Amino acid sequence: MAITRTVVVAGAGIGGLTASLALAAKGFRVVILEKAPRLEEVGAGLQLSPNASSILVGLGLEPRLAP
Ligand SMILES: Cc1cc2nc3c(=O)[nH]c(=O)nc-3n(C[C@H](O)[C@H](O)[C@H](O)COP(=O)(O)OP(=O)(O)OC[C@H]3O[C@@H](n4cnc5c(N)ncnc54)[C@H](O)[C@@H]3O)c2cc1C
Repeated sequence: MAITRTVVVAGAGIGGLTASLALAAKGFRVVILEKAPRLEEVGAGLQLSPNASSILVGLGLEPRLAP
């Protein structure tokens, strides 16, 4: 019988969300806890290096990143 393990991720920033997607892609059940009442943009936007973009593309986010 397959055992579904749950991982709790604290923080819904780019780091927490990327880790959560990667874990979910491996079959983990992920619970994300975010202390901020609302997620908002900070600064001019996130600059992603090519290796970071490659990871996000690998997680299936290319259609969301392209625009
Ligand atoms: C004012 C400012 C301007 C910036 N401008 C730019 C820019 O123009 N371009 C750029 O590329 N980068 C910019 N950055 C940097 C960029 O925001 C960070 O590098 C990036 O967001 C880091 O991502 P992260 O997931 O590691 O952390 P964060 O984005 O900080 O995410 C961490 C999340 O965890 C939550 N959290 C923390 N503790 C807990 C807890 N105990 N329980 C639950 N949730 C918790 C926080 O509320 C937050 O939502 C800027 C940063 C700041 C502060």
